[in-house]
Amino acid sequence: MDLEQLWHLTLGEIEIQLSRANFATWLKNSRLVDKKDGTFYVALPNNFAKEWVENKYQKNLLGIVRTFDDSARKLEFLVANGEVGAPPAKKAAGADFNKLDRIDFEFKTDPETNLNPRYTLKSFVVGSSNELAYAAASAVIKDIGTKYNPFFIYGGVGLGKTHLVQAIGNEIRARHQNKVRPKYVPSERFTSDIVWGIRNKRMEDMKRKYRDVDVLIIDDIQFIGGKEKTEEEFFHTFNALYENNKQIIISSDRPPQSIPTLEERLRSRFEGGLIVDIGYPEYEMRVAIIKGKLQEADRRLDEAVIDVVARRVKKNVRELEGVLNKIIFYQEKKQVEVTAKVAEEIIDKAIQNSARRVTDSQILKAVAEFFNITMADLASHNRRKEVVEPRQVAMYLLRDMLELSYPSVGEKMGRDHTTAIHSFEKINQEINKNSSLGQKILLIKDAIYKS
Ligand code: ADP
Ligand code: MG
Repeated sequence: MDLEQLWHLTLGEIEIQLSRANFATWLKNSRLVDKKDGTFYVALPNNFAKEWVENKYQKNLLGIVRTFDDSARKLEFLVANGEVGAPPAKKAAGADFNKLDRIDFEFKTDPETNLNPRYTLKSFVVGSSNELAYAAASAVIKDIGTKYNPFFIYGGVGLGKTHLVQAIGNEIRARHQNKVRPKYVPSERFTSDIVWGIRNKRMEDMKRKYRDVDVLIIDDIQFIGGKEKTEEEFFHTFNALYENNKQIIISSDRPPQSIPTLEERLRSRFEGGLIVDIGYPEYEMRVAIIKGKLQEADRRLDEAVIDVVARRVKKNVRELEGVLNKIIFYQEKKQVEVTAKVAEEIIDKAIQNSARRVTDSQILKAVAEFFNITMADLASHNRRKEVVEPRQVAMYLLRDMLELSYPSVGEKMGRDHTTAIHSFEKINQEINKNSSLGQKILLIKDAIYKS
C-alpha cells in the first residue's frame, strides 16, 4: 500500500469518528508525505491545524495507521509551507508538497475544473432512491443552461450528491471537450475566495473566475447561508450566469426552504429551477453499490459477506465503503478469512467506534460547567442573559457535533424546532463575527472531547 492509499484509508476511518465540521476543519487537507524508521510524517496546511491535530488526534490517528501498517511507531506533524523545521520528507515529496494548502482532499483533481475523474456516471449506481436525480442529471447534460436552470439536488450525508454533481461535470467535459467549461467548487471554497478577494482588493479577479464558465457547480450550498457578503456575491454571479444561459448546479444537505438564513431572493431563484432529492438506498441498491466498488477495486467477497454489509450499513454510502475497505484490509493484509460472522464483528466494531463519539449529556454538562450554571438552568425557561446564551450554545453544539435534526435539538431542550433553528443561526452568526464566542466554543468542544 502506498502512502496516499494508507492515508486515504486512515482518513476514512477517522472521518466516521469525528463530526463533519471537525473533520473538514482539521483533517481534510492533510497528507501523509513520508515514512522513515517507523516515523510517519503528516503535513497540515498551517500551524494552527498542526497544533490542534497534534494535541487532539495524534493518538487516535496513530492507532488507525498502525492497523494498516504495523511498522508505525510515531506520527510527526509538519506545516506544508515549511514554516516548521524542514522534514526529511521534503525532498521525497517533491514540488507539490509546498502547495499543500491549495490542494483539495481528492488527489487527481483537474486544476482547471476542480473535477475529480473518479466520479463518473458509469460508476453511479441508480435505484429508486436516486433515479429521479439521475434522470434529471442526464437531462441537464443534454440541455445545458436552458431548461433546468438551476439544477438543485439535496439529500443526507454520504448519499452521492458530490458524486453525481461531479459526474455531470465530467460527462459534459467528455462530450464537449474544451468547448464547454464546467467548474466545480465547494461552497466553503467559494466563500474563502470572496473573503480573499475583498481582503486583497482583487474582487474583479474573483468575479471573472466564477463568471467565466459555462457550468458552475456549487457543492454544499447550505454553508453559505448567513454569510452576507458571500450570498451577495453569489447572487450576482448567479444572475450573470443565468442571464447568459449558463448552467448552474447546486447541491445541499436540505431543500432551499430549510436553509434558514438563506436570503429570500436566493431561495426564490433556487426554487425557480429543478429541485430533486436523493434518499437512502434500498437493500438491492446497496448490494449493487458494494459489487460496483469491488469490481472497481478488482476484489471479490462472498455473497454472504456482501449480504451482511448491505443489511447492516444502510444510511451512508461512504460508511459502506469504509466497512468494505476494512474487510478487504483484514482479508489481504491480515490474512484473515472474512466470513459472514467476521464481517459482523468488523461492523460491530466500526459501529462501536462511532458510538464512542460524543453524547448529548456530555455536551450539556460541558456547556453548563463552562458557563458556571446548572443543567437545570440550561433546560429552564429562564430568560436571563447569563442563561440564554449558554442555552443557545448548547443547541448549537447539539446540532454541530451530533448532527441532530432541529426538532430533536429542540426536544432535548424542551423547545420547539424554530427555537432550535434560531439558536443555531444566532450562534453561527456570532461565531462568524465575534471571535471571542468562537474561542469559547472551541474550549467547550475541547472539554467535551476530553470528558
Ligand atoms: P455526499 O456528497 O452526498 O455526502 P458523496 O457523493 O461524497 O456523498 O458519496 C459518498 C461516497 O459514496 C462516494 O465515494 C461516492 O462515490 C459513493 N456513492 C454514493 N452514492 C453512490 C451511488 N449511487 N453509486 C456508487 N457510489 C456512490
Ligand atoms: Mg458531498
